[in-house]
Order: sequence, then C-alpha cells, then structure tokens
Amino acid sequence: MSLPSIDTAVTYPDGDLTSTGAVLHVEPLADGRAAVILDRTAFHPVDPVWPDQPADAGVLSAGGRTYDIVDAVVGATDGTVLHVGDAPVRTGTEGWAFVVCHLVDDPAGLAEGDAVTISVDAARRHALSAGHTACHLASLALNEALSGLWTKEVTVDGRGRPNFDQLAISSSRILEGGSIDEYRIGKSLRKKGFAAADLAAQLDEVEAAANRALAGWLATGAPVSIAREGGRLGLGDRRYWRAELPEGVVEIPCGGTHLRSLGELTEARVQLELSEAEGALALTMRTTARIA
Ligand SMILES: [Zn+2]
Repeated sequence: MSLPSIDTAVTYPDGDLTSTGAVLHVEPLADGRAAVILDRTAFHPVDPVWPDQPADAGVLSAGGRTYDIVDAVVGATDGTVLHVGDAPVRTGTEGWAFVVCHLVDDPAGLAEGDAVTISVDAARRHALSAGHTACHLASLALNEALSGLWTKEVTVDGRGRPNFDQLAISSSRILEGGSIDEYRIGKSLRKKGFAAADLAAQLDEVEAAANRALAGWLATGAPVSIAREGGRLGLGDRRYWRAELPEGVVEIPCGGTHLRSLGELTEARVQLELSEAEGALALTMRTTARIA
C-alpha cells in the first residue's frame, strides 16, 4: 500500500461527531496494533508535539464490522515512511503529509479503498470541548489579571494585554471539564520585565481578578468558533480559536475542539498555585468548566 501524499481532511474543528471516508492505508505497528489512515475524519487525534487535548474515544465501522479506536495520534509522512506519533517535524511543515492515525487492536478485514464510518463518543468530546474553551478563556483572564506586574513592553494577546500565557507556558493539558496549565517563571521572563518577586503576595488578588474576568465573559454568551486559514481542511493547516467578545474578536492558534458559545458554560473558574522548581517559580493554573 502506498503512503498518503496529502493531509487527512479533518471535520472535528467544526464540531462533527461522525464522518464517512475511505481507507487510504493500514500500517501494522510493532506492538501488534495497526494505524488506519482515512482521507477524511471527525476523530480528534492527540498531537505529540503539543499534546494539550487528548484523543477522542469512538469506533470505526466498515463492511458490517465495528472496530474500537483505542487511541489516535497525529502521524506524518514524507512519502517514504509513516511516523506514527513521533514525527521528526512540526505539524504543518512543508513537504510532509499530516494524517490522523486511528489505532485499532486488530485491523483484520480492513483494506485500502474500503468505505468507513467514524462515530465519536459525544459526551467525552463535549466535556473536552468545554475544558478547552475554558482553558483559552482562562489564559486571557490570567493575562488580564497579571497585566499590572509587567514593567516593560512585551508581546500582547488578542486583547492587547501582555501575553504572560504565551511567554511562560510550559505545558497545557485539557481535561473533561477543565484544564491544567503549567507556567515557568525564570530568569528570561524576569529580564522581559515580569515582576516575579511581587507575584506571591498578590496571588489571591490575581486569582480573584481572573475569576471576575471569566464570569464577565461567560455572561456575554459570546460565540466561539474555529477559523481555518484559507478555509483548508487539512490536518496540518493552521486553525484559530475565535471568540467574539463584545470588546472585540480574539483569536488564539488552536488544533482542538470547542463549544459554540460561552453561553454553554454555566461556570468557569481558575485556581492558582505557586511553587519553586529548579531555581525558577512554577505557576499552576487549574481551570474548572461546568456545562448545563
Ligand atoms: Zn487550543
């Protein structure tokens, strides 16, 4: 079987939970499982380069049989070899095809050209989408709440606030109904003008300010969507989370899934925790998102 030369067309950014497509390739893996590549899918895979949102759960159906999708990862191929979850290049790199690898335990019966249907677990997707939407909103709230601690001009976010989130983030994990973001405040952030020494004393105030900002935005019920660069459907094409806040439209680069409106969230709150790690400060932001 030949390897795909174009990206998988992905429909999960639009909120799709089912899709139909054709099998392009089935790759046997060393652990006995197999990676099934389709031309089109509604199934969100984890991207190992920035593994914030975990894979969907769900099934693949073909020829009267149903296969559990036990995991899904971003794969990449330059036409010679398929890298399953360990691409040597960033998603979107020119000259590579980026594909959703649907992992199944036993691909017996699946062949190139077969028509398949994908069905995603709706409850898990909805809870992850709520967590991801709240995560992006919380990053804006944190930037807002920390804006007074900057003494120099730095990169700003979509609302014009110093972009602490972008400058300090070390990892982000989307959970069902929430997220955990880890920030590192070290020498380079201090050099950029962040008054790290003042943070501990103001942490409660910062948390309260972030939660006030979140409550205010939730009350607006602002529409949320994913914008695709050039309208392209490819997995490797750039996409942006877009929130139409009353004060203006805010966009954040994003490969995940989201709610359609902030009105779907009944509550979004953050909890901040500061600790010391290897000569730097570590700030943990735990976000909780509730849906009706
Ligand atoms: Zn995102």
